[in-house]
Amino acid sequence: MKKQLLTESSAGHRFAGAGLVPEKSAMPSEAIFQNTPPPSVFIVDDIPINIQILSTILSEEKYDIAVATNGEQALKMIRDVNPDIVLLDIVMPGIDGFGVCKELKSCQETLGIPIIFLTARTDTEDIINGFHLGAVDFVTKPFNTSELKARVRTHIELKRSRDIIMQMNKRLQSEIEEKERMAKERERLVRELEKIAITDSMTALYNHRHSIELLKTEIAEARRYSQPLSLLMLDIDHFKSVNDIYGHPYGDTVLVKVSATIKKLLRDSDHAGRYGGEEFLVVLPHADAREAHITAERIRRNVEALKWDATDLRVTISAGVAMFDNDTPSSLIKKADHLLYRAKNNGRNQIQG
Ligand SMILES: [Mg+2]
Repeated sequence: MKKQLLTESSAGHRFAGAGLVPEKSAMPSEAIFQNTPPPSVFIVDDIPINIQILSTILSEEKYDIAVATNGEQALKMIRDVNPDIVLLDIVMPGIDGFGVCKELKSCQETLGIPIIFLTARTDTEDIINGFHLGAVDFVTKPFNTSELKARVRTHIELKRSRDIIMQMNKRLQSEIEEKERMAKERERLVRELEKIAITDSMTALYNHRHSIELLKTEIAEARRYSQPLSLLMLDIDHFKSVNDIYGHPYGDTVLVKVSATIKKLLRDSDHAGRYGGEEFLVVLPHADAREAHITAERIRRNVEALKWDATDLRVTISAGVAMFDNDTPSSLIKKADHLLYRAKNNGRNQIQG
């Protein structure tokens, strides 16, 4: 245990040594100060001897110490130094301690710096006013060395703990955001994969398997709610000769363009799929025979009117239109297919059913 020190400074400030307050709290503070730069203390007082006394006391704690002798200078420097704590005299010419405190607490960058007021007075009103302005503590002159050290240390520890918690919060926040971003990206990929799984890659219509699935679903709906449902089977006429004469790549272009034409002429609730090579299946929920005919005829006319780079090319389609009548998916497809066959035999470029 250190010897008790009782010193009377020339300015009349008495500061007492160890014994009144436990010297240094061991664990948490050491942990907090480990691997970090030494805490910095900023002292503001218009009387140089006060600064000298405080500096002498606090330098034993291995703090970095910066000082200012008036409010204006303090405000300028504190923004640059960003100290861990400010020891602030109240009575100063120019901007007094309350003014400095108010200014620091109103600024985002300096708001978190703890402020301890230094006051010769024990005026309760001053103390209350200081706390209202955001000060964390008061130290009265003359200084009690141990008490001063303990208070400064405690508030630095609190501030550093707060800083650590804020950093952790920030890190957690960004980890959460990153996880959310990844989850969204995963969802997007899953949706993409689901889309790929049901789409015909060349025509971007539904593929064969999904067309049948949709037909099953719509048949179940039509049955449950006694709603009409129609099915179109469409086939590009003489498609083999398109491939033979213009080549397969051009045949693919024809498929893409005809598919887009079909899709364009349907309602959002209709489903168009590529059933086979140049054969398409279109499910028309809620459509009776007349409406299905109108749709099929519109598709036929639009395909016939398509313009091609190969100027002598003329592309037409034939279609069979079947109405749901308590059918199974396969029996309805068979009906539509049969009507398509009839359209082909009847000279093509026409609708049957
Ligand atoms: Mg003063």
